[in-house]
Amino acid sequence: MNLSFIGLGQMGASMARNLLRAGHHVTVYNRSRDKADKLGAEGARVAATPAEACRESEIALSMLADDHATDGVAFGANGIASALAKGAVHVSCSTISTAMARRLEREHTARGQEYLSAPVFGRPEAAEAKKLIVVAAGKPDLIDRCRPVFDAIGRQTVVAGPEPAQANALKLCGNFMIASMLETFSEAFATLRKSGVEPHLFLSVMNYLFASPVYANYGGMIVDEKFEPAGFTMRLAYKDVRLALETAQEVGSPMPLASLIRDHMLSAIANGQSELDWSSLAYVAARNSGLR
Ligand code: NAP
Repeated sequence: MNLSFIGLGQMGASMARNLLRAGHHVTVYNRSRDKADKLGAEGARVAATPAEACRESEIALSMLADDHATDGVAFGANGIASALAKGAVHVSCSTISTAMARRLEREHTARGQEYLSAPVFGRPEAAEAKKLIVVAAGKPDLIDRCRPVFDAIGRQTVVAGPEPAQANALKLCGNFMIASMLETFSEAFATLRKSGVEPHLFLSVMNYLFASPVYANYGGMIVDEKFEPAGFTMRLAYKDVRLALETAQEVGSPMPLASLIRDHMLSAIANGQSELDWSSLAYVAARNSGLR
């Protein structure tokens, strides 16, 4: 298929590479040109603007930091919407707000273009290994059309519903669950360190109880204080918890734990942890306990 991929950060570069490996023709664009040139050396065509990248595409994928970046790339000068052919699909894989997903759907539809939300679960290592979980939502026929793309970047595709924003709601609530696990680990580890209990021992018991790779990986990162290089930055994680709260507000569903975690993440950022991994949330509980 003729595809374009816009946003070649930690996640996007590996996803675009897997589309190339699957035999698709991929045109890439990234704000900082050097990351696009790297993919160019691996067989991608490199475009100078998002519009140039997606002019000939059947499907244009974007994997950008946040709502602001997505808005600029989609609707700014030389944006996706200015060039995507009628009937072609923009698939946003970024973790964006439900409000932004609705705006993308509305604006593309007004131009005769199609839109799907397809955010993903999995860290950069999972993106590299083609092991992402893709959460797609939108018109069923469009999801079928995009399935070869989803199969090339992930191990499983879950359909959240017929409205694109439903995928974003699912993704935001999923990240809220992981953030809650980080918060509970942080509080437990701080208490156990002050009680003189070996944290690896506690982690091994928790691994028996929960038997989840998410608990095992993040628990290990916290015990070993492996917060750099960040697979997922505190800056982007704070954005996700904030967006989960926005969604909760839209539908009138209180999320008091998310409010607490948002404030703890804000404290982490205020203490210089913006570019550390989000598992460094553990430092907040540690500081609150008088630990280092
Ligand atoms: P990243 O490494 O920081 O990459 C962000 C990308 O967005 C880069 O290509 C960056 O371009 C581009 N960008 C940022 N601001 C822009 C702007 N104003 N205009 C144009 N381009 C802009 O982030 P990432 O970890 O790949 O995450 C990307 C998305 O995936 C986020 O929504 C994140 O929440 C989500 N996500 C991340 C993970 C993870 O574990 N990392 C997992 C699942 C989902 P430059 O290269 O020029 O800066």
